Amino acid sequence: MPKKWRKNLIVNRLKNTLKIIMNKYEVVVIGGGYAGLSCALELSKNDVKSILIEKEKELGGLSRTFSIGDSIFDIGPHIYFNKDKEVVKFWKNLVGDKLQTRKRSNSIFYNSKYIKSPLQVSNTLKQLGIFTTVKIFYSFFMSKIKNRNKAPKTSKDWVVFNFGKELYERFFKVYNEKIWGLPCEEVTSNWAGQRIKSSLSKMIYKSLTRDNDFIIKSFDYPEKGSQTIINAIEKEIILHKKCEILKADKIVSIELNKKQKEYLVKTESGKQILSKTIISSIPIETTLKFLNNKNTFINSLLDKLVYRNLVLCLLNIESTIPISFKNQWIDIHDPNVKALRATNYANYDCKMNSSQYVPVSLEYNCFNKEEIWNASDEEIYKIAINDLIKLKVISKEIKVSYKIVKLEKAYPVYFKGYEEIIKILKQEVSKFPNLEVIGRLGMYKWNNMHHSVKTGILVAKNCIEGTNHNLWDVKGMVSIGKEYND
Ligand SMILES: Cc1cc2nc3c(=O)[nH]c(=O)nc-3n(C[C@H](O)[C@H](O)[C@H](O)COP(=O)(O)OP(=O)(O)OC[C@H]3O[C@@H](n4cnc5c(N)ncnc54)[C@H](O)[C@@H]3O)c2cc1C
Repeated sequence: MPKKWRKNLIVNRLKNTLKIIMNKYEVVVIGGGYAGLSCALELSKNDVKSILIEKEKELGGLSRTFSIGDSIFDIGPHIYFNKDKEVVKFWKNLVGDKLQTRKRSNSIFYNSKYIKSPLQVSNTLKQLGIFTTVKIFYSFFMSKIKNRNKAPKTSKDWVVFNFGKELYERFFKVYNEKIWGLPCEEVTSNWAGQRIKSSLSKMIYKSLTRDNDFIIKSFDYPEKGSQTIINAIEKEIILHKKCEILKADKIVSIELNKKQKEYLVKTESGKQILSKTIISSIPIETTLKFLNNKNTFINSLLDKLVYRNLVLCLLNIESTIPISFKNQWIDIHDPNVKALRATNYANYDCKMNSSQYVPVSLEYNCFNKEEIWNASDEEIYKIAINDLIKLKVISKEIKVSYKIVKLEKAYPVYFKGYEEIIKILKQEVSKFPNLEVIGRLGMYKWNNMHHSVKTGILVAKNCIEGTNHNLWDVKGMVSIGKEYND
């Protein structure tokens, strides 16, 4: 090689090394959703030099908001409901009075009828009629007798044991299968137990004793949607000048230098970053794949995790178009309507729209191979309009401005056997020095926002104060209160 070339090569190598050394941080936080952001904020408040890397142009992850003109849309209905003092203080410190308490108003669409939600015995039975009511009670009592000594294993078991087969078949099956894309027999019981959190007998008792305290009657919601809080976090992080925020760049590999116990993180744009600590809120299998695991058994497990995607159709409906949508959202248990839920953000009464428009969204859960995931925007729009007609929200076809949002890996699926896999992956993560996984996808948990924030805060505390909070226990530590919503 000519001398000049060799010199250039050495100079370039030196420059690269220098660049990496300059890109040295105490902590790299991966993912700019609530988990990553709350962690980065705690770190920067405590003078820890860190960098947060987010692949999208906008921060917020699953809690970000979208807009069409002046109308603001969340990703489906998002409600802030939590009693954990630390998390509530976290929200309040950021936006104060902009986090407002809202009265809950939603309904269930089933059999072409609207039923009040959460289910109220008298209203539900009135809508179903006397013959069906008798059948429901008979099936409930039979199920109680038949299954009295059994523990539910699947989502179907859980509902049948607590509500009877008749209600399961009529009511829960369709909704559950829309969410999961799997028969209820293939989904573990813990999700149903976590989400529904009641039984027919409990509901009747509460109804008779007029005790409505077991349901969420109100929730908090930020003025102009979640983006208000997300923006406030970003502003505060910038203010502390300790955490750099890198947006629209993606982690593509992580290498561990075992001797130095230091990670080299590479991004799509070519950035190279050195750090002794990695905190990741991206899917657990992606983090482990980046670490280029040679263990074939572990690698085989990484491909076994299953997620549901989410297709959102956001419609900005002119207020001159007559619509009938009085609730904040509708849970759709009717198999003839493809959407899982419809949301009207105007009814959050939180400055989500101008008086000229009504922002409405429809949600479609799906796998990569499903038609709707691969459909064009126009096709999805047509499905959504058709669904709104079936829901009797509109009476005929309308032409409005719309946006289609496709979110990959929105829901970790609780398929049979997933817990054993996560147990092994959790151990695998712990083998790496100073590697922590947090949040919904980082821990493969059907978490809500509060859990993400809590894991973010606690992992930062572990880093700063040397505490040993067990992040995997967070679900138990956060008091969810009456009902789990997502
Ligand atoms: C339809 C719907 C409704 C919901 N409703 C509620 C509700 O009412 N109440 C509630 O409390 N919770 C609700 N949730 C749950 C809540 O939105 C999530 O639990 C929370 O937002 C998750 O935050 P997170 O930071 O853990 O994960 P995420 O928000 O998923 O953040 C992970 C981030 O990592 C980024 N990322 C991924 N790969 C890379 C990479 N290679 N490099 C860099 N960045 C990467 C992603 O872009 C993302 O921003 C709902 C969720 C959904 C889907």
